[in-house]
Amino acid sequence: MRVGSAEDRNQVPGRRGIVFVVSAPSGAGKRTVLERVFAQDTRLDLSISATTRPPRTGEVHGKDYYFLDREMFERRVEAGDFVEWAEVHGNLYGTLRDELDRLVASGKDTVLELDVQGMRNVKRIGLDAATIFIMAPSMAELERRLRARATDSAEVIDLRLANAREEIAARAEFDYVIVNDRVEEAAADLAAILRAERCRASRQQIENEWD
Ligand code: 5GP
Repeated sequence: MRVGSAEDRNQVPGRRGIVFVVSAPSGAGKRTVLERVFAQDTRLDLSISATTRPPRTGEVHGKDYYFLDREMFERRVEAGDFVEWAEVHGNLYGTLRDELDRLVASGKDTVLELDVQGMRNVKRIGLDAATIFIMAPSMAELERRLRARATDSAEVIDLRLANAREEIAARAEFDYVIVNDRVEEAAADLAAILRAERCRASRQQIENEWD
């Protein structure tokens, strides 16, 4: 068998997907950067989290999140249904074990969009994941973006800004940091990270005539 390019190697039957944790304070532009990368990378899938946060306008159950009430969420925590979960901005968010297992078993590489606590929990349980932090170029720019979005009240924006400060202070705990000044550049950085991680010797899942 020829070893082939990293792209070929990612099509080996039985391959388990690589897990990428992507975190960013709100307003860092994570969604836009991820959308760009997803548009050009068909081997990537997004894990859909569960949350107790009410849906924003246009958000769909099963597409953006699994929207659960607090009682149901807590019942599922007790049942051990979550790989990790955390309270963020006063709501509960968590990665469902079934969802992650299904995606990884499909052979697709999986993006988990988590807050910093989620990234720490993933590391603590020893899940093999590459961790990436996306941040705005400055606090002033972050604040401008959050206020321009106008989907949240002034109170919620202030809470998100305070949380952003804390999250940015934790950026050195990640494997990679991307500064999202220009979206195209940030998307290119993320695509390069995914590509490099797929080439990592420790992640090769094939044997060939050299072995
Ligand atoms: P939003 O309410 O803006 O959709 O998300 C708020 C924060 O929750 C973001 O930082 C997002 O990454 C984080 N988040 C979303 N899903 C999960 C999850 O499953 N686990 C954890 N720990 N954080 C999550």
